[in-house]
Amino acid sequence: MGKILNNQSLSGSTIGIIGGGQLGQMMALSAKEMGYKVIILDPQDNCSAAQVSDAQIVAEYDDLDSLIELAKHVDVMTYEFENVDAETIEEVSQYTYIPQGTKALTVTQNRISEKGFLEDNGFPVVPHAIVEDMKEFEQAIKKIGIPSIIKTTRGGYDGKGQIRIEDESFNGIGDLVSSSECILEKTIDLDKEVSVVISRNIAGQTSIFPVIENIHRDNILHLSICPARISDKLSQQIHEIAEGISEKLELVGTMCVEFFISAQEDLYVNEIAPRPHNSGHLTIESCNISQFDAHIRGICNLPMPKINLLQSAVMVNLLGQHLVNARLDVFNHADWHLHDYGKDEIKHNRKMGHITILINDVNETQKSIEENPIWNV
Ligand code: ADP
Ligand code: MG
Repeated sequence: MGKILNNQSLSGSTIGIIGGGQLGQMMALSAKEMGYKVIILDPQDNCSAAQVSDAQIVAEYDDLDSLIELAKHVDVMTYEFENVDAETIEEVSQYTYIPQGTKALTVTQNRISEKGFLEDNGFPVVPHAIVEDMKEFEQAIKKIGIPSIIKTTRGGYDGKGQIRIEDESFNGIGDLVSSSECILEKTIDLDKEVSVVISRNIAGQTSIFPVIENIHRDNILHLSICPARISDKLSQQIHEIAEGISEKLELVGTMCVEFFISAQEDLYVNEIAPRPHNSGHLTIESCNISQFDAHIRGICNLPMPKINLLQSAVMVNLLGQHLVNARLDVFNHADWHLHDYGKDEIKHNRKMGHITILINDVNETQKSIEENPIWNV
């Protein structure tokens, strides 16, 4: 057992992170602040996370030899995304301590196992049907109806691998269904989308963050607002569900649960990310500890504090098409906390950074963002 579990001197222990994007970078920053050494495994040399870490192993995420090499150099290992292979993690855990285990990974990697887990445990989910071929699609569409959304069961993010079905033309569905197993979901008449971040340590203590309201553009997160503009009752229900999910998943570290709230005020769990989440970035400035601090605390079995919202906040994402202008406009906004992930390649719709603004008046801040030409390209 490594130094961390024995509660020996924390400073100097080493954390290995699989994946070196912005989530890995912000985890590494938290870990460094607490005195840990950090080693990143990522195929891209000098990736975002490696820029703020002690060392990097340049390798693919599924390169078993390199993962074992990383394992041998670290006291505890974690990952920044859910698409790491669970069997690989099992194998690597012979060489180091991976407190998160694989349960949360295997459940959330696939939309069908995720929905099954939620239903089996009595958490509310959107009406859905599994679609493996066009025959099943015909049955599913009868059951679920139109409008609906068909999604690939694995690997989707930012709306990738999804088709919205508004009528009976069914364009592109044959190709999607033949390329991958899919799930058909009823389209919910959304009033709001919200998320909640919760972290748990090895001993089972949790820190739960206030509910965050999310506004998407083209299925990509655009704005997050905390606290969400919802009733106390809903917020409490959401917290109870997230606590319940974290127990059932035997969560260690940070997880985010995304919810739909319908126009009729029905609540559905949309998806679970077994890691820090884009919507939780505003916790860095607005709360006593961030979702990344909480993740590191959880996997290192430090005690989990009660979360206080110090100030309301809005976070706005910077995609490839926003970044250059935002870097200039930052000189006009003393209240902007700019986070620039240091990615080499600027691509359309790629998440390059974000800005958090601590606020007094959410409507005013939201309006100033909506009117800023940066986000209107
Ligand atoms: P991703 O993995 O790409 O984030 P999601 O399932 O969260 O996939 O879908 C992306 C977005 O599409 C959601 O945030 C929501 O705005 C919209 N969406 C997805 N499923 C539904 C649904 N069943 N009803 C209404 N909107 C949906
Ligand atoms: Mg989502």
